[in-house]
Amino acid sequence: MPEPTVATMDKIVSLCKRRGFIFPASEIYGGIANTYDYGHYGVLLKNNVIGEWWKAMIQERDDIVALDSAIIQHPRTWEASGHLAGFTDPLVDCRTCKLRFRADHLGDVQCGRKPSKHPGEDAVCDLTDSREFNLMFETTIGPVKEAGATVFLRPETAQGIFLDFKQVLQFARRKPPFGIAQVGKSFRNEITPGNFIFRTLEFEQMEMEYFVPPDEAPRWYEHWLHERFEWYVRLGIERERLRLRAHDPDELSHYSSATSDVEYLFPIGWSELEGIANRGDFDLTQHAQHSGERLEYHDPQSGARFVPHVIEPAAGVGRSVLAFLCDAYDEDEIGGEKRTVLRLHPALAPVKVAVLPLLRKDGHPELAREVYEGLRRRMKAEYDEGGAIGRRYRRQDEIGTPFAVTIDHQSLEDRTVTVRERDSLQQQRVAIDALAGHLQARLDPDPA
Ligand code: ATP
Repeated sequence: MPEPTVATMDKIVSLCKRRGFIFPASEIYGGIANTYDYGHYGVLLKNNVIGEWWKAMIQERDDIVALDSAIIQHPRTWEASGHLAGFTDPLVDCRTCKLRFRADHLGDVQCGRKPSKHPGEDAVCDLTDSREFNLMFETTIGPVKEAGATVFLRPETAQGIFLDFKQVLQFARRKPPFGIAQVGKSFRNEITPGNFIFRTLEFEQMEMEYFVPPDEAPRWYEHWLHERFEWYVRLGIERERLRLRAHDPDELSHYSSATSDVEYLFPIGWSELEGIANRGDFDLTQHAQHSGERLEYHDPQSGARFVPHVIEPAAGVGRSVLAFLCDAYDEDEIGGEKRTVLRLHPALAPVKVAVLPLLRKDGHPELAREVYEGLRRRMKAEYDEGGAIGRRYRRQDEIGTPFAVTIDHQSLEDRTVTVRERDSLQQQRVAIDALAGHLQARLDPDPA
């Protein structure tokens, strides 16, 4: 049986806060439900995750193009997609404690009066019948609420891709199989609380719609299951803590003939990281009917016309960040002292190298600055001269910096520095002139 890492959700939350990765939003006003802000290292980590996704979609293939569609689309979009009628959660209210719960998550949350019990378990609980509640956030276009048009913040990025299918087909001169990829914010009025950034009201998605001839859909579905699973493994997640789980027939969305989730063994148990669905021709057909536009592929050579089927890998940025953090989190001991370390893949690490003068005098800072200036043009580097060297190493370990370069007395004599590796703690002397090349080779040992 695979084991989760030594990370607990509390440890991750506290490390994220301590080092300024991620923290509750609007904290000076007491916070706001299920909403978080990303600080400096959090932004760098998140951007690296997104960058690796784009790399896998665009740089390493030539059958996918990029798109950035609007968050607020024409309201009929959500009629056609089925979100207006069907994107709902079943909710119950408790007349006693006045709290609202998801009827299908009662076992995951605490009773408002008796936290040791679940809602409905205590004699004083008085739950209403469950009602369907739409997860889309509504707003209004125009200055007067009553006279304005009601619109919605998108609950997924995918629909913008379907709306632009015809455009992309024309300007990108593609023929199926080809994909359209997009990264952006989505919004859902989620009421299940807790679990840090696992489930938030606003979150970024990395979604790609892959349009294929109908008879090729099963083959491409298998292809994307494999590709997406291996992406997480390549970026350092332990294979044993990942699994693919196929949806049971009664779990499938109405439009999907097959869906599998990539699940990760989070500290809260196996949970969805990404969904990969065979959506058939549902979306293009619906938008064609509602808009009156023909959304199909016409092969100019053979004259054949068909509505492509769609394979969709849909991942969450925040959930991926959380999985990478949990998997990288480790604790060990150096010289009898406990160390917390993030063993992040170098491609994801917010900072690649820290430059540390041993002393704050005797010419160390001047040479260290020179080394830093030479490195920062090539990779994300950080200069730090504050505090004891051990504490500075510890700080870099906690943010997952793969290498620390130390400038000492010997450096002034022979222009060499010490390179300390985060995971093995091995130290090696390297000439300053060869330093950037040395680090680059170790950061990306297999650039091919
Ligand atoms: P869940 O069952 O956990 O609510 P879902 O099946 O509704 O998720 P999808 O609609 O398939 O999720 O969205 C694709 C991905 O977007 C999810 O795998 C997840 O990574 C991410 N995601 C969805 N909802 C949220 C949310 N509220 N907060 C953070 N990430 C989310």
